[in-house]
Amino acid sequence: MNDSVRASLDFQPGYWTNSVRRYMANELRPAIKLAEQYLENSLGIESTATRVLPYLGNYKEPARGGSISLTTFDLYFRSSELKYKKLGSLFPEITSVCAHEMVHCTREKYFPQDYSLIEIIASEGLAHVVQASVEHDVFKIPKEHTILEDNIDGEDVLNNLYSDPLFYDPVPYQTPKNQSPHPWLYEKNNNYSWGARLGAWCVNKMTNEQGYELNSLLAMSAEDIITL
Ligand SMILES: [Zn+2]
Repeated sequence: MNDSVRASLDFQPGYWTNSVRRYMANELRPAIKLAEQYLENSLGIESTATRVLPYLGNYKEPARGGSISLTTFDLYFRSSELKYKKLGSLFPEITSVCAHEMVHCTREKYFPQDYSLIEIIASEGLAHVVQASVEHDVFKIPKEHTILEDNIDGEDVLNNLYSDPLFYDPVPYQTPKNQSPHPWLYEKNNNYSWGARLGAWCVNKMTNEQGYELNSLLAMSAEDIITL
């Protein structure tokens, strides 16, 4: 078992006070380490992420994480979460989001800089299923409260995807602060976008019905995952 942590925190100079940096480092390192260990030991996935950039997300309903590249992902925090020292109680969420973002980073190894809608849906599906596996396996959240057991009509949504003219357009670049509300990718009422739900439905089908391991799906093309 590998005990070293691959991804290190990279605090932007001048962005945080020293005491906040110390607090964040103490709270975030164990979450990053646990996410890496779960990926490696439970799923056989060696994360490619080596850098984690923490930022303030002061915009409305900030996402918790965002992947940037093969090696780097962001984490976002509200100022109140730091001021009132909430990170300890957020440990399960932060850990599972780190696992989610590590999946996006690692997917880049196989399908670099592919901004097609189908690839983004496949990557979201894989990331959400791994995130939900951490929620369930590590933090004992019941499966029915995760995306592992979603009640969408996957076949119907899949048909909608393939008949949508947007299917053929690359997805415009988005930042967490500037989210263009892509119909397949923006957040819905139940916390998951249609794209994420469809992706997770397809990934769950591949693992539950066809016996694929998540680590082999990570290297499988989106066309082979997002299908009936
Ligand atoms: Zn994602």
